[in-house]
Amino acid sequence: VDGLMMNYPLVLPAIMRRAEALYGDKEIVSRLPDKSYHRYTYADMIRRAKQLAVALQRLGIQPGDRVATLAWNHYQHLEAYFGIPAFGGVLHTLNLRLPPQDLIYVANHAEDRVILVDESLLPLFQKIRPQLNVEHVVVISNEGNEHEGTIGYEQLLASADPSEYREPNLDENQAAAMCYTSGTTGRPKGVVYSHRAIVMHCFGCLFPDAISLRETDVVTPVVPMFHVNAWGLPFTCTMVGAKQVFPGPHLDPVSLAELFQAERVTVTAGVPTIWLGLLQLLDSNPGAYDLSSMRAMLIGGQAAPEGMIRGFRERHNLHVVHGWGMTETTPVGTLAYVPSQALDAPMDEQYYYLTKQGRPLPLIEIRARGEHGLVPWDGKTMGELEIRGPWVARAYYNDPEGDTQFTEDGWFRTGDIVTIDPLGYVQITDRVKDVIKSGGEWISSVALENALMAHPAVAEAAVVAVPHPKWLERPAAVVVLKEGQTATEEELRAHLADQFPKWWLPDYIVFGTEIPRTSTGKFLKSALREQLREQLRD
Ligand code: ADP
Repeated sequence: VDGLMMNYPLVLPAIMRRAEALYGDKEIVSRLPDKSYHRYTYADMIRRAKQLAVALQRLGIQPGDRVATLAWNHYQHLEAYFGIPAFGGVLHTLNLRLPPQDLIYVANHAEDRVILVDESLLPLFQKIRPQLNVEHVVVISNEGNEHEGTIGYEQLLASADPSEYREPNLDENQAAAMCYTSGTTGRPKGVVYSHRAIVMHCFGCLFPDAISLRETDVVTPVVPMFHVNAWGLPFTCTMVGAKQVFPGPHLDPVSLAELFQAERVTVTAGVPTIWLGLLQLLDSNPGAYDLSSMRAMLIGGQAAPEGMIRGFRERHNLHVVHGWGMTETTPVGTLAYVPSQALDAPMDEQYYYLTKQGRPLPLIEIRARGEHGLVPWDGKTMGELEIRGPWVARAYYNDPEGDTQFTEDGWFRTGDIVTIDPLGYVQITDRVKDVIKSGGEWISSVALENALMAHPAVAEAAVVAVPHPKWLERPAAVVVLKEGQTATEEELRAHLADQFPKWWLPDYIVFGTEIPRTSTGKFLKSALREQLREQLRD
């Protein structure tokens, strides 16, 4: 017997209609390149998104065509987030931190027909433009400047009447957006988000044990809109009518603290590097900023160090929410909260949960596979995380090689090595390509890094495998000391010996001035391995 409920498509224009009907006067604030503030309302945003949809169609862009953006976090980018999918176009956010060769590769691989570019990013864009196949370049200029061979974003919008916008008959499984992985572990791969996946991801994120956004919230995505849809926040905020506050290109700690204080921000999100800078600023200027409105700072993309989570909470009463996700999971997959079993436990026990990557969002299923099959949820046995759910990719865009990432029974192999504890809390212990396989046993490079970074003299540490004749691989650490601090190899090894079995201790600890990073701020372990191999050979 069929259920007799409507077949209501889960598509982005439904979120636009809701925002227009209910939240028209709510505010959207953006920091402009000159640091001044731009303010307008949801009604303005939706009107301009419709104008963009009409104007792009006038340029000959068809449903299914890719329209790229190369832009910071601001209101025009938000208009693109809705205006492009609103007519069936596919929003392709280009990661401006990718090396030029990768940018050219992804823009051409996606066959982008139009690109919207920030004026401030034109120097970067001009370098790659000769090798791109785009037909139209639209420049987002806040001063209304004109650039030869391009269309001004404001002129483009002005040419279109929002009342001409007709919502197409969209299928919820149609593509709405796409994003390439940052290629930490190989060539970037394209992930194509359906309308349905984005809408379901909004619901998952709105779950109270997830991000739990409300109409009364004021939200700043510091995580870039060019990287996995700023964790979906522009969509999720618009669904609930939260006030949105965009930092523009100003991501330094002082600018962020000013913005949070001025706009009374309640929820923000970013990678650990950003929050480490903010913590240092707050520590060295006690009482200088009033961030009392903030109720959650989401951290993901890389493991949040325990010292940072504790530092924010104990010294500044700021609550960090640690989560895990990836481009292939739209991106939020797990988030960490203290479960009822530990609510009355001492803080140290609560940090056990808060520092993990957390439990899966509703409808997201997890399991982990070791060399002998699925591993038990004992919090100890390591295995590769496999995941499935309504906002998990089922294939890569035009990339048959990527098929090896999917299991025969339809789960996605994340490439992350984890443990899962009896309550379902995931801890990332490594990436498949970074885990150190010493004599057939696995050593977590991440666990060693965290322990090293907990040493008072250490600013940063990365651990990678180096070849060994007998054990095949052994750990080696590169350590960056804090300014003015000293520590010897022996001291650091003794510090680790307190926490790990002897065979886990790095064979080499070398001191460096910085650790190479990827375009999204993660340790670039492939480069580090090369560097160490060279160094150890000499
Ligand atoms: P890429 O895969 O190219 O690095 P993504 O942005 O998709 O680009 O990165 C996803 C990866 O980032 C995950 O597979 C995982 O290895 C890592 N990651 C994300 N969040 C966390 C976290 N909280 N702790 C540890 N690692 C994380």
